[in-house]
Amino acid sequence: MSEHRIAMVGTPCEIMAASKMQHYTDSPIDVKLGLFCMENFSYKYFGNLLKEYDLKMDDIEKFQIDKGFVFLLLKTKETVKIPLSVAKRIIRKNCNICVELTSETSDISIGSIGSEDGWSTVIIRSRKGMEIVEGAIEQKYIETKEFSEPQFNLLNKLAGNKINKNLEHIEKKEFLARPVLYQREKSDDSIADEISQSNFLDLKSNIIDVGACVLCGACEYACPDNLITIDDTKPIMKGECPQDCHACFAVCPRTFIPEDLRNDNSKPIGDYVKVLSVKSIKHSQGQDGSIVTTLLDYLLTNDIVTDALIVDKKDDLAWKPYAKVTRDIDEVVKSGGTKYSVCPVFKPLKDIKEEAD
Ligand SMILES: Cc1cc2nc3c(=O)[nH]c(=O)nc-3n(C[C@H](O)[C@H](O)[C@H](O)COP(=O)(O)OP(=O)(O)OC[C@H]3O[C@@H](n4cnc5c(N)ncnc54)[C@H](O)[C@@H]3O)c2cc1C
Ligand code: SF4
Ligand code: SF4
Ligand code: SF4
Repeated sequence: MSEHRIAMVGTPCEIMAASKMQHYTDSPIDVKLGLFCMENFSYKYFGNLLKEYDLKMDDIEKFQIDKGFVFLLLKTKETVKIPLSVAKRIIRKNCNICVELTSETSDISIGSIGSEDGWSTVIIRSRKGMEIVEGAIEQKYIETKEFSEPQFNLLNKLAGNKINKNLEHIEKKEFLARPVLYQREKSDDSIADEISQSNFLDLKSNIIDVGACVLCGACEYACPDNLITIDDTKPIMKGECPQDCHACFAVCPRTFIPEDLRNDNSKPIGDYVKVLSVKSIKHSQGQDGSIVTTLLDYLLTNDIVTDALIVDKKDDLAWKPYAKVTRDIDEVVKSGGTKYSVCPVFKPLKDIKEEAD
């Protein structure tokens, strides 16, 4: 296990799962590249929505969300716009109770908000993140420029809007007697106590059955007895949990968050060292500034990590995401671009874990 040093890419909820895995287990994840994420969609319902526009997934070259619209750039080079007010109905339920835009527990967060076309907004959050960005500048993988005050204000405002909107959803949900565990502020001691009394059945009743599961696959990865399988819709457990196991409940990003990882909702983009606009010098096929692809290239080429955990799309099912672990930079480049639906990102780590056992 320890021979793997993995750089992962993920949405804020997936990065939180990775952070909890680092906190509670011996995790192979070494570098966390977090994406910005306002919302995500159901793959199946997205397909149904496209039918209303006489389109199918296979017709789409690229998805982009901007200024209140989902832009579909078609293979025919035409563009179709779907208002977000229409696409709202296909947003995954769990995203409505998500109050994080910018992957606050990552080493480096990457998105487009605030930066001009072809540039990405990059939030450096840790010493490791800073070293990576400095190394990538020095080796001419990326170029940077200052992130101005108006750019910063826009990012802060949109992050704050997400928090406020979804805190209202949380309030409504809690009013219906459904506690949103990850927003409950508890001391580490009392979280340890909760964890010690919880297993998959608690995960099922508190998270999965109430539509809070983000489908990250961390529970499947963490289960020492391989009792959990995760398909397209939800984690399922078969068998009987040993009395002393609580691993799935501990690592789930939607159960209680330890004090050092908890977001402070009064800081819309969380704690950071520096925010920059960044452009790739090496790649241009990505979603925005191709910064994720470029940083992974830098990390693999310089042997700072051994592998990258990325999300590519299936060859036989257009835009259907799936996660894989690779050392091949061509595969990293191929996986560029945003897939606006979810897959259990931690699934391929299970194979690595089993190899090591
Ligand atoms: C669901 C979703 C919603 C987003 N919403 C916003 C937003 O509101 N505002 C904003 O500024 N940015 C948003 N982003 C981030 C943005 O779309 C780009 O991913 C980001 O700017 C990085 O661009 P890039 O050109 O550097 O990445 P690229 O070089 O194109 O690399 C993209 C990487 O993202 C990974 N990836 C693609 N799809 C997924 C996925 N579904 N889950 C996990 N990893 C994935 C791939 O592994 C790939 O390595 C969102 C991303 C996702 C996945
Ligand atoms: S819960 Fe939804 S909105 Fe929040 S980070 Fe995950 S995919 Fe994005
Ligand atoms: S054995 Fe442990 S990790 Fe697996 S389902 Fe049961 S409680 Fe969860
Ligand atoms: S229940 Fe499992 S798949 Fe769902 S959010 Fe929690 S850890 Fe992720």
